Amino acid sequence: MTLPGTSLEGLRALVCGASRGIGRAAAEALATAGARVTGLARGRPQGALPFPLVAADLDDRPALARVVDRLLAEGGPFHVLVNNAGGPPAGPILEAGEQDFLAAFGRHVLASHHLVRSLLPGMREAGYGRIVNVVSTSVREPIPGLGVSNTIRGAMAAWAKTVSRELPPGVTINNVLPGYTDTERLSELREALARRTGQSPEQVQAGWLAPVPEGRLGRPAELGAVVAFLASPAAAFIRGASLPVDGGRLASV
Ligand code: NAD
Repeated sequence: MTLPGTSLEGLRALVCGASRGIGRAAAEALATAGARVTGLARGRPQGALPFPLVAADLDDRPALARVVDRLLAEGGPFHVLVNNAGGPPAGPILEAGEQDFLAAFGRHVLASHHLVRSLLPGMREAGYGRIVNVVSTSVREPIPGLGVSNTIRGAMAAWAKTVSRELPPGVTINNVLPGYTDTERLSELREALARRTGQSPEQVQAGWLAPVPEGRLGRPAELGAVVAFLASPAAAFIRGASLPVDGGRLASV
């Protein structure tokens, strides 16, 4: 028996929000597996990256469309798309205004939708497509204090499941649901929550880790590895799934 492989040699990948955190780790994992990776981000991080980064803002869809059209014209089709963007600001849902929901819906759902529609013809022609969305465990269990985020993650999961039923054979879409992962975003959330609740950042983190059987934060590289697996030939029969990568924190079945 020959096992389907996890090499991404000969494949081209587009990774959104690739300048830091989980997006960057995903881009690095895809490149390590052999893919030709292009990252998208609003700005440049300090230091060198092992893949080219192209400037694009997911909040500006007309400009995003122009960038993606240029990348397709210059480099040919993408076989892998990673939808990933900064999460909405933390806060109680009843303090959120209409614009907060609209902005988050645009950045996450509409940007992903646009990218899928732009890249699908090339994936269809190649007979190979892997779309991986970085979402959140809040798809299953809403997280207190992340009102807009919880709402948008649910929308993203419903969108992806629907898309999974319409994609042609050979083109899949799946969600990765990170638990608490050690990135800049998590540091910012920890500080914001500490200020709001009067706790120390260490107390906030201890509260986060209490229900995590692995007893630690996730490492961005651990999320990147799962994205690279879902992008590989080995994951061909996984479609429309939401995979928690959370050290066991989710209590639901
Ligand atoms: P992060 O804030 O560290 O990184 C987000 C990336 O997206 C950055 O590269 C940023 O520049 C980019 N980005 C933000 N807004 C953008 C825009 N408008 N256009 C283009 N790029 C944009 O976040 P992270 O911790 O790596 O998390 C990635 C995703 O996973 C987020 O949606 C986050 O909410 C979600 N998530 C993270 C955790 C965690 O613990 N870190 C847990 C659950 C879910």
